[in-house]
Amino acid sequence: MLLAALAVVANAQPTSTNLTPDGAVIEDINAERLLIRLRESLRTISLSSDAPIRVTSGPYESELPAGKWNIQLNDSTPAQFRYRVIVKGLNPDEFDEAPQHLKEWRARGYTPESMMLGHRLRLASGETIDARVLWICLAVRDTKLQAETLRNELEAEGTWAWQRAELSTTGSGKGALSSAALGKAYAITFPVTLTSSQPITIAKQNVYESRSYSGDLILEIGGDGALTVTERVGISDYLSGVLPSEMPALWPTDALKAQAIAARSDVLAHMRVKHFLSGFHFTDTVRDRAYKGAGGRHPAADAAVAATRGEVLSDGARLLPGVFSATCGGWTEDNDTVWSAPGDAALRGRSDLSAAAASPTNIRKWLKSTPPGYCTYDNKHFRWKRRFSRAELTRMVNQKHNIGRVQRVELGDRGSSGRLKWIRVYGAKGNATVKKELPIRQLFGSLPSAMFIIDEAKGANGQTEFIFTGGGRGHGVGLCQYGARGMAEAGQGYGAILRHYYAGSTVAKVK
Ligand SMILES: [Zn+2]
Repeated sequence: MLLAALAVVANAQPTSTNLTPDGAVIEDINAERLLIRLRESLRTISLSSDAPIRVTSGPYESELPAGKWNIQLNDSTPAQFRYRVIVKGLNPDEFDEAPQHLKEWRARGYTPESMMLGHRLRLASGETIDARVLWICLAVRDTKLQAETLRNELEAEGTWAWQRAELSTTGSGKGALSSAALGKAYAITFPVTLTSSQPITIAKQNVYESRSYSGDLILEIGGDGALTVTERVGISDYLSGVLPSEMPALWPTDALKAQAIAARSDVLAHMRVKHFLSGFHFTDTVRDRAYKGAGGRHPAADAAVAATRGEVLSDGARLLPGVFSATCGGWTEDNDTVWSAPGDAALRGRSDLSAAAASPTNIRKWLKSTPPGYCTYDNKHFRWKRRFSRAELTRMVNQKHNIGRVQRVELGDRGSSGRLKWIRVYGAKGNATVKKELPIRQLFGSLPSAMFIIDEAKGANGQTEFIFTGGGRGHGVGLCQYGARGMAEAGQGYGAILRHYYAGSTVAKVK
């Protein structure tokens, strides 16, 4: 089949991302477009739309008839990345500490630099709230491995660091766009943008389910030389696609509204920080927020997003990150227990009930009982149990730490909710210390939370069993989703729910 070239169109829209300069003031969030990374490492893509699809590739533009189209990548030059190692993140009220940090790292022989990320938001009142962060970047390395090596060296010296891939050169490639039904084929040059007045459905492929998207789709060449698919979508459409994945759409309206505001605040707090240097804002997975596109929407969730349009969490000066988890288990957790970040006054652990209640000071008593809490609704995870034989425990732990047959597990310090900050596993060949909530949960086959105690008992066959008795599901910081449901069912409005879980917060309105 002969490949026709796409027509040259004057004033064609460039395939550009709208990454606003660091620290800028966003006047109107409705004009912002998020870049959501949907798929990676593909050589072919099948998609369809009920309306014509406009294809833009550099200065070329063409309109394809409605129907099913196949995209094939033939050859490419991979995108190039470099890797930044970051040792500190400062909130706006700590920005003046940056020179001191830079000085200290220079004295240790590094050439650190500070980087401003994030933005400020214009409120409907005319004032601004701050969602900027200042990163102290210690070094830039050419490969991921080099950055990891430096991170490990720093960790051995007691400094926790993280790394971020930074796009340095965009990839390019050539391929073909064809329709078997129409007998048409075009030569295309990546990156390519696809736009349609109807959602574009991308077919099921490898690990990916078939999903429909209302935003523009950008097909680019990734760091591995294969195709990536990214949706360019407005914040409200994105939130509507996120909400039903994060909270059942049939839950009470005020719980959905609280969730919508928390998610909007979380999006606005992290959009120009988290993956920003890599050239997009969020992935569509639970690592950021589960997002299923236009096909994942629900009218009740759409209504909650629309009814709270522009509403965000603030402490008056700063945009608060609206973090949330499924079930706190009776008491919420401090943010700095779970993540390596400065303690946030709005994210302090507190009783799941409004009234002062018993706190988890005696963790054994706490976990063996059902203290009062709005999230007791979650009868599967408010309190939970897991049983492992010594062999099972040994297998799980040795997947990551080669310490031989497990002898015992030492449980370390706990945060205010009872979630563990560290544990140490003793094996026949050595021991392993695991820090932080998520790695602890993952070590034992993805436990619901890091709030647990372990009892040893003899099983039916006389073998030792390790019985984990735990509470809650998720990290426990910020909004407790089951608790929000409980509060809404008890007649509380979304403002009261948010004020309860985010201490000192108010609901502010952005343009
Ligand atoms: Zn709770």
